[in-house]
Formats: sequence, C-alpha cells, structure tokens
Amino acid sequence: MSKRSIFTNSVHAGERPADHFGAVSTPVYNASVFAFENADEGAAVHNHLKHGYYYGRLGNPTQEALERAIAELESAESALTFASGMAAISAVILTVAGKGDHIVALESMYSTTTSLLKHLSERFGVEVSFVDGTDPDAYAEAARDNTTLFWIESPSNPRLNVTDIARLSEIAKEKGVLTIADNTFATPFNQNPIELGADLVVHSATKYLGGHSDLTAGILAGRADIVEEARMKAARYFGGNIAPQVAWLVLRGIKTLAVRMRQHNENAYAIANMLSSHPKVIEVFYPGLESHPGHSVAARQMRGFGGMVAFDLGGIEEGKRFINALELVSIATSLGGVESIIQHSASMTHSTLSPDERRKAGIADGMMRFSVGIEDKDDIQDDLRKALEAV
Ligand SMILES: *Cc1c(COP(=O)(O)O)cnc(C)c1O
Repeated sequence: MSKRSIFTNSVHAGERPADHFGAVSTPVYNASVFAFENADEGAAVHNHLKHGYYYGRLGNPTQEALERAIAELESAESALTFASGMAAISAVILTVAGKGDHIVALESMYSTTTSLLKHLSERFGVEVSFVDGTDPDAYAEAARDNTTLFWIESPSNPRLNVTDIARLSEIAKEKGVLTIADNTFATPFNQNPIELGADLVVHSATKYLGGHSDLTAGILAGRADIVEEARMKAARYFGGNIAPQVAWLVLRGIKTLAVRMRQHNENAYAIANMLSSHPKVIEVFYPGLESHPGHSVAARQMRGFGGMVAFDLGGIEEGKRFINALELVSIATSLGGVESIIQHSASMTHSTLSPDERRKAGIADGMMRFSVGIEDKDDIQDDLRKALEAV
C-alpha cells in the first residue's frame, strides 16, 4: 500500500475495529484487572508468551490503541504512553542512564526537563553537560567516554531554537550515543525526528496531540528494545501509566491533529510576520521567518513551522502591560490547545530563576511565549494590536 497522507493517518491511526465488535471509536476499557480462562493462560500472559492484559498499571486495550497510533505517526517501532510528558521523560532517561553515565542536553529547553537532569546529577550520580543546542559540534565536544545520551528539543521551549537533528544523530551514531528528541512543539504533523535519524521521541501529549487543554499525558516512541525495556522497568516500577479515559481522549484529539496543525501553522506564520513589522516588538522568534537563525535547518527538517511564536517586548513591565491588555488571548502557561494562550516567562514560569540564569536559559525579561490557537487569525491579530498599544 502506498504511504497515505497524515490527514488520513491521523484519522485512522491505531484503529482495529474488528477487535472491538466493529466499534468505530476505540472503547474505553475501564478495568484495572483482567481475568484469565485458566492457570496456563495466566502464566502465558504474565510471561509475555501470549498477548493479553492483566493489570491496569501495565496496560489495557485503549492504551495499546493509542500506542499503535503514535508509533504509526512517528514511524516508530514501538510506543509507550504515560500520565504526563514528564512521566515519559523521566521514565526514558532512567531507562537509558544511571550512576556514572553522562548526558549532554541543551541549555535552553523545557525548564522542568532541565530541573530533572540537575536533580539526577545532584542526587543520583548521573553526569550532565548543558550545551548550545543549535550547535551539533557543541554536543560532540561535550561527549566523553561515558556519554550515553544526547537530549534534543527542536524547536525548543520557549525560545524556538532549532537543532539539526540529522546532523546530530549522525554524530551520535559515530560515538555510540543514543539520541532522544522532545517533539512536543513540532508534533508528527510537522516533523518526524526518527525519520531524521533520532533513536526515540518523547511528547507532552498534554499539548498538541490532546489539543484541547483538557488532559495531561505523555508518550515515548522509537526503538523497540528501549521502549520495551522502559515498559518492563521504569513504567512498571514508577507506575506513571496513562488512565484509560485519558488514552481515549488523546486518541480522539489525534483524529483532528492534521486539520488543527494546518490551522496552527497558518495562523502562527501570519502572526509572526505581523509582529516582526510592529514597532513595539523588539525581536520575534519563529523558525518560519527567514530572519530566524535556524530557518534553513527548519525548512529542511520540518514540513511546517508550528503554532508557537516567541517575541520580546523589552522588559518585565512592558510584558505585564501587554498581557494584562489582552482580551481574546488567555494568560496561561500551557500550549498546544485550540485556543490562543500566552505566557510571559520572566514574570511566570521562569520567575524563580535569577536574571543571570534566565539569560542563560535564553529568556529575555520581555519575552512572550505565544501558543497561537485555531481561531480566525484576524481576530487574534486585532487582540494583539490593541494590547500592543498599551505597551
Ligand atoms: C509541557 C512540556 C513538557 C512536559 O509535559 P507535561 O505533560 O506537562 O508533563 C515536556 N516538554 C515540552 C517541550 C513541553 O512543552
């Protein structure tokens, strides 16, 4: 069969109606325990000699349908789903790295991933180096004999930095180092890190995959040996698995992923352009703009530039005046939902960092992180223009 479009695949990914009496929507299996026909079957399922389910923490048919869907959309051998993006991220890092291992990650990325890596280095003997994520050679230079993992996030949160995933994956393969890419911002609609050479991807499905700001969930997908090790160990021991109802909500979200992302991409592109020509805006960060330092890499490795736009209004006070004057756009820290949401990082998520730490993480005092929704772009632009007058 020829490869179908993601518009088709996102509607049908993971489906097996014949397994569920023909149900067109995969049912929610609200069961924490599954009974066996007899002792032999119980032993076979427990020992993975027969496919089946036995206990809620270890999976159910709804969760498995979501895992099939993600594996299809990310060209992954296998996938595993969790109760949050951080549950997926901590599970995979603890699967591939332990005491005495070294990880290289970006200095500007999702701040809780940074905090997790610092925690592992302070408490659990994992060594960590933070480098400029836009420079694959910086990862190569930081690598040591005990390096097991290069962590990638592209485009990065919140600054929209771009990493050349193919180039970095090549360097990693030469050195025998694993690559894991956080693909939350791009989504499989815009980018497939595994096709570019990465070993694994993670997602906060709380964002675009769920898409409606009504759930938290996380995903790990990629090389079957590592995903299955995570399933047998980290997922099982730490117990961060996804609830059946939430798995179903993510599956429902994915059905409209392609149409939503098309609109997110289109709106964000228009808004990034509008902001770049506005006199009150100092700088705009959007990989779709030719002025963005990562534009040519993004144009090569992405099919669209995504729905996230960051921009700098100069200072903390300008930032506060701006968000307080918005009417349509909500002030909130999440992203990826159908509605437009904005965050002023310096006064919100990154307020506990010192000004110096903020600079290092790439967060200017007047920096806005804007998750452009799928509303009419003229209405969004009107709201922004009016609020910019208050700056
Ligand atoms: C939100 C986010 C996460 C964490 O996901 P949760 O679902 O909130 O645990 C990880 N990475 C990126 C890039 C994110 O935006």
